[in-house]
Amino acid sequence: MNKIAVFPGSFDPFTIGHNSIVDRAIALFDKIIIAIGYNDSKQGFFPIEKRKLWIEHIFKNQPSVEVQIYNGLTIDFCISNKSNFILRGLRTSSDFEYERAIAQVNKLLNSNIETIYMLTLPEHTAISSSLVREVIKYKGDTSKFVPKIIADEIKKMM
Ligand code: ADP
Repeated sequence: MNKIAVFPGSFDPFTIGHNSIVDRAIALFDKIIIAIGYNDSKQGFFPIEKRKLWIEHIFKNQPSVEVQIYNGLTIDFCISNKSNFILRGLRTSSDFEYERAIAQVNKLLNSNIETIYMLTLPEHTAISSSLVREVIKYKGDTSKFVPKIIADEIKKMM
C-alpha cells in the first residue's frame, strides 16, 4: 500500500520550519501532499495561488511532493486523495494542546486516518507564519525565516 501523507496548513507564508518538516518526512512517505487550506471567510495575507507557486518551486526536484489547494474538512481531502496520514509539526506545548484536540476530533470523524507529528528542530521553534507577517509589516528582512525564493520575492514587493 502506498503511504500518502497530507500536510495541511495555511502556509501564509511557507517558512523554513514547514520546509524542514517536509524534508524530513520525505523518507517516511511515498507521497506528501502539501495541502493549503482555503477559507472563504478569511482572505489570507498572500494570495493562495502565490503560496502554491512558491511551495511548488521549492519542491520542484522532489517528485514525491505535490501541492494542492483545498476547502472543507481535512479528513475529506485525505479520503479523496487516498491518504491515511495527516502530517503536522509540533513546536511547543501550546501547539500540542491545539493539535491534540484537532487530531482527536479527526479520529472520531474517521478512525482510519492517523495524525503523525514531527517535532520541530530547536532552531525553528520560534518561527511561525504570523511572526513572518509581522516582520513584513514593518519592512524587516525575512531571509532567516522563509526559503530564499520567498524572501527574494518579498523583498521585491517592498
Ligand atoms: P495552521 O493554520 O493549520 O496551523 P500553519 O501553516 O501555521 O497552519 O502550520 C502548518 C503546520 O506546520 C502545523 O502543524 C504547524 O504546527 C506546523 N508548523 C508551523 N511552524 C512550524 C515550525 N517552525 N516548525 C515546525 N512545524 C511548524
